[in-house]
Amino acid sequence: MSSSRRLFFALTLPDALQQQVIRWRAEAFTPEAGRPVAAANLHLTLAFLGDVSAQKETALKKLAGRIIQPGFSMILDDLGHWPRPGVVWLGTRRAPRGALQLAELLRSQAARSGCYQSPMPFHPHITLLRSATQPVAVPPATPGWTFSADSFTLYQSVFENGRTRYHPLEQWPLAHQDTP
Ligand code: ATP
Ligand code: MG
Repeated sequence: MSSSRRLFFALTLPDALQQQVIRWRAEAFTPEAGRPVAAANLHLTLAFLGDVSAQKETALKKLAGRIIQPGFSMILDDLGHWPRPGVVWLGTRRAPRGALQLAELLRSQAARSGCYQSPMPFHPHITLLRSATQPVAVPPATPGWTFSADSFTLYQSVFENGRTRYHPLEQWPLAHQDTP
């Protein structure tokens, strides 16, 4: 179907954090470790939808627009390497309840709309390196940035001219953060 698009819901990194992460990454990993994800592509996926028809996209956007969830802050204090998919990631040791609830809502809406959802538990992470299939010296610690989320975004993933780009389609606000 020509009108279907490859979609996912994600959290966008604020520009300042994006820049801090790529500067640190350049120091923390050798070039052999893997292929760095482009700064503009750094994101935290909440729910992957796959190829979605225009009709289903409209329905999913409507459902997303009804979500009322608080914003949250996440400390990026965890790092890991998944050799099989070849991913080095930045994550958190304590996923905030708000992030888990938001992902759960989006995933259950997606599943009910017929988008296959992986049975793997949600593990919030930001992919830093790809093609990291060899052993990687993962630094023992991160600078421990705080990632504050006050919205979530529906992205289209487009592969063109040999590279993947994400186009934001629509963004929805999260409510003011609860005090921690
Ligand atoms: P590419 O696959 O073109 O190399 P990519 O993985 O960044 O690049 P997509 O495959 O479109 O692009 O994925 C978009 C986002 O959704 C990424 O965060 C990716 O990790 C995640 N994702 C992709 N496939 C799945 C899946 N089957 N289950 C869960 N998340 C997925
Ligand atoms: Mg992919």
